[in-house]
Amino acid sequence: MEKLLKDTKKQIKKEGKRAGVDPVFVKKLLFSERLLEFTVQVGDNYYSAYRSQHNSIMGPYKGGLRFSEFTTRDEVEALSMLMTLKCALVDIPFGGGKGGVKVDLKNFSKEEVETLSREYVKGVFPLIGPDVDIPAPDMNTNEEVMTIMTDEYSKIKGVSSLASFTGKPVEKGGLEGRTEATGYGGFVIFKQLCTLYNLKNPTVAVQGFGNVGFNFCKFADEDGFKIKAVTKREGGIKREEGVVFKKNKDDIFKEQEVNKITNKDILEMDVDVLVLAATEGVVDEENADKVKAKYIISLANGPVTRKAEKILHKRGIVVIPDILANSGGVVASYCEWIQNKGEEKYNKEKVFSFIKEKLSKAFEEIKKTEKEFQSDKKITPTKMATLIAIRRLDKSFKNNA
Ligand code: NAD
Repeated sequence: MEKLLKDTKKQIKKEGKRAGVDPVFVKKLLFSERLLEFTVQVGDNYYSAYRSQHNSIMGPYKGGLRFSEFTTRDEVEALSMLMTLKCALVDIPFGGGKGGVKVDLKNFSKEEVETLSREYVKGVFPLIGPDVDIPAPDMNTNEEVMTIMTDEYSKIKGVSSLASFTGKPVEKGGLEGRTEATGYGGFVIFKQLCTLYNLKNPTVAVQGFGNVGFNFCKFADEDGFKIKAVTKREGGIKREEGVVFKKNKDDIFKEQEVNKITNKDILEMDVDVLVLAATEGVVDEENADKVKAKYIISLANGPVTRKAEKILHKRGIVVIPDILANSGGVVASYCEWIQNKGEEKYNKEKVFSFIKEKLSKAFEEIKKTEKEFQSDKKITPTKMATLIAIRRLDKSFKNNA
């Protein structure tokens, strides 16, 4: 993950220069405003915990919180930088944050997960809070963890504080439509891709069938698009006439005449659009040459490595960046936060319409900015997304000065 941090800093440096903003401001973006490292105790064991608060020019720090054996300080810092860029790109008043605990939950009981969650909050308090830093679920943290953390934060603070965490269950102050929000945002981007690049009835393959992949498929299927293959960690299915989607997500892997497909093969399928909704680094310099799709939508975080993106670009394959494609989640989190602060109420329809507005605008801006640099053959949507985010941060910094 040291690599992700290096790559992210490199990207900020390069695009900051291209954006023509003050180099001293760009330098500021290469550092986190605060990077907290602490220890949490569960039973007789101790675990390294982190919270990175990268930048708060646009608003309070916002970003997920993960429990994973692979969590490192560098990973958390890099992801917080990407959150700063994501929030700025879609223009929501949040800064970038990210947190995590280096822990393998495999043998944890429910009670131990609760202790871990409460200890984490005790460790970061008072550096988080509704107007300072608002964590959300990420890898291996979910609605229940957010409920426990909100409760712990409120206990310490001595006042109920629903706006201190997002991603809570609807009955505990969560938002209608939050579960589908990232997949829905991906679908908005997919539809706009079809319009902006003039794709008629494109065929699609989707790697990853969890929250994000499943919801993407649901919206695309309902709108009549043909999804020729889907995979989960153990592999998946392909069907020339299009996979038939069922209400229950696991039923699609049974009960239909299909062929099996591996996670390696789906990346090399002859489809128009490849949607990557599983995990990071699945397309790298080893397999980038084998991709046949003309468009890739990065719905997971970092599914295409920087080196792979270079190879794909040379081959004329368009990669839609994660900070655009999966930003539906953070846009919905913004609605939840506003609702918890008592400023405005959101139903599902209003959440979806807000996601559509924010993401479509950002995609259009990327296309418009590409024209500004059209003489440069190396320009990609990822570079343009970063550049737009840096310009917006610079403008906001100057306005606040
Ligand atoms: P999830 O755990 O619900 O689903 C992940 C899916 O990917 C599962 O189907 C799993 O079987 C599959 N998978 C895991 N490893 C794989 C591998 N090596 N090869 C192929 N398939 C594999 O997770 P999710 O919430 O759907 O998140 C997916 C990605 O989207 C992650 O990168 C996550 O960080 C990112 N993301 C999620 C949200 C959100 O709101 N959930 C928001 C922004 C970004």
